[in-house]
Amino acid sequence: MENKFDVIVVGGGHAGCEAAAAAANLGVSVLLITMNLETIAQMSCNPAMGGIAKGQIIREIDALGGYSGIVSDETMIQFKMLNRSKGPAMWSPRAQSDRWLFARKWRIMLENTENVFFIQDMVQDLIVENNELQGVVTGTGSRYFARHVVLTNGTFLNGIIHIGEDQYGGGRAGERAATGLTACLNNLGFESGRMKTGTPPRVDGRTIDYSVMDVQGGDVNPAKFSFLDTKPLTRQKDCHLTYTNDAVHDVLREGFDRSPMFNGRIQGVGPRYCPSIEDKINRFAERNRHQIFVEPEGWDTCEVYVNGFSTSLPKEVQLKALSLIPGFEKARVFRPGYAIEYDYFPPTQLKHTLETKLIDGLFFAGQINGTTGYEEAASQGLMAGINAAQKVLEKDPFVLSRDESYIGVLIDDLITKGTEEPYRMFTSRAEYRILLRQDNADERLTPKGYELGLAKKERLERLENKQEATQKLLRYFKKTSVKPEQINPVLKEKGSAEVKVANKMDAFIVRPQLHVDDLDFEKNQFKNVIGEILCSPEEVLEQAEIKLKYQGYIDKEKDMADRLNRFENLYIKEDFDYAQIKSISAEAIEKLKKIKPKTLGQASRISGITPADVSAIMIFIQK
Ligand code: FAD
Repeated sequence: MENKFDVIVVGGGHAGCEAAAAAANLGVSVLLITMNLETIAQMSCNPAMGGIAKGQIIREIDALGGYSGIVSDETMIQFKMLNRSKGPAMWSPRAQSDRWLFARKWRIMLENTENVFFIQDMVQDLIVENNELQGVVTGTGSRYFARHVVLTNGTFLNGIIHIGEDQYGGGRAGERAATGLTACLNNLGFESGRMKTGTPPRVDGRTIDYSVMDVQGGDVNPAKFSFLDTKPLTRQKDCHLTYTNDAVHDVLREGFDRSPMFNGRIQGVGPRYCPSIEDKINRFAERNRHQIFVEPEGWDTCEVYVNGFSTSLPKEVQLKALSLIPGFEKARVFRPGYAIEYDYFPPTQLKHTLETKLIDGLFFAGQINGTTGYEEAASQGLMAGINAAQKVLEKDPFVLSRDESYIGVLIDDLITKGTEEPYRMFTSRAEYRILLRQDNADERLTPKGYELGLAKKERLERLENKQEATQKLLRYFKKTSVKPEQINPVLKEKGSAEVKVANKMDAFIVRPQLHVDDLDFEKNQFKNVIGEILCSPEEVLEQAEIKLKYQGYIDKEKDMADRLNRFENLYIKEDFDYAQIKSISAEAIEKLKKIKPKTLGQASRISGITPADVSAIMIFIQK
């Protein structure tokens, strides 16, 4: 009996942790099986959370009731809101994390989550009888039973680590590869492929000369990820910036013939937007320098992450090239950079719930689906965990659409278009960026998370309280006049046209040069209007300003989403026979049969499906 659970989550990385927490918090019993309990939520690469589009994803996870935002807030050492100078659709929170505290905090949060049980072991096989999933078998021969299994194996499946001419099996530096599972899945009929990624060397900070580098500090008033009452940062640690140069590139080029990337030993496709340094100097040969961000790995360690210098060149080449970068002349390396190749499973084999089409109750989440990044992995884990629990509880699947979340965009892209190279999220992948802002993730998703039973009442109350306060402030802006003698000095200073007559506050706030604070003549006047609230008054001021300045754009985008959503409401039966439609090509029929789109909207996003195919399907369905 003790080996029987509602859900088994395989892998304790970012996807596995969110999956286990979500399923358990929805009330089902969860066994988390992972190869090493010491490396739960390990940051395999850079010690940072968030960034462009990724920060929005963490806010969404948090708004739904996931843990990544809380863990990031409580373990960060620096915070920056990227793209502040652009419109709010582009603002992206990013934190430098303490790698060890991050993993420790995750483990504590999971241990404190009722219904989560742990086993350290390697899953090598699935128990499937008559096409029905029954559980898993581990390398030690133990059998654990569940009708619902979430696989989140990350970079571990048949992982091979490459450093120059050396190559050996491993899932991550210092950890062994996971074997057996790919073969088991292939035997069940799943397609798999190979991808690769890489990481830079880690250096002893005591041997770096920071005086010749630019200091990269955090924000003066650091914000945070979670909509809950996590504590804002009161002290921060600096990062630094330096550059490569021609001499560094020359040394790296000398090593190319021993590089596994260039001599054909690495077959897997790497992340286009996270290239190795050898890739960068090869692809952008005209550039004589590249940025190197020198990032601390935590509060109490001297270990430093050399961001921008990902490499799999031989160790001695890495060290020689590094020593030619200003500030690194005397640097000692703790761990060399390396590349890793691993198996992934093309995500077109999944439904929107991240359940596989082939085996009922089997879910895939994270890097196993061909994505890269902690945030992408965590959000998939959350959604797979939720849907596994919903299935146990015989409740409706939980799917997010493209116009309500980046998570919806990510999953829809993966399952509809697939990916042939590691997929990372960008704001440009979303068609409704103004709707999917980091500041309104709570407004978009907390009511859904609450209805689901994942977001606690406190989250909903905080949201409602913030919304009420924002409306109160907006009403105040609409009815309060400002005289020319009050506002004209501000307008002059900001380079905005001066006025001859009094006007209401909202008429000034919509001006691009002005911010709410510029009208706070009595100091704290607006905070007094807002009164006591659960969130910080700054959040309310920001919301009110965004609503005033951008409401026109927001309405326009909502309108467009509503118009396009009519295709999302045209459902296609799973067993629909596309061959009946004479006017669509054989290639289109093959793709439609494989992907099995749920709606006409999804069909329209499959690569190779033309607008003519879409209208032919629409006419046929409507007939
Ligand atoms: P992982 O974090 O890899 O976790 C997988 C977990 O599953 C591990 O705990 C492992 O022990 C466990 N596991 C695996 N197989 C089994 C099994 N059979 N049985 C039991 N447990 C199992 N991301 C970026 O965004 N940018 C980068 O530049 C970048 N570079 C990277 C470089 C390297 C070398 C590596 C390894 C990763 C890099 N990543 C990068 C990716 C990032 O680390 C992953 O996207 C993210 O960690 C994926 O999360 P995950 O939960 O899917 O898997």
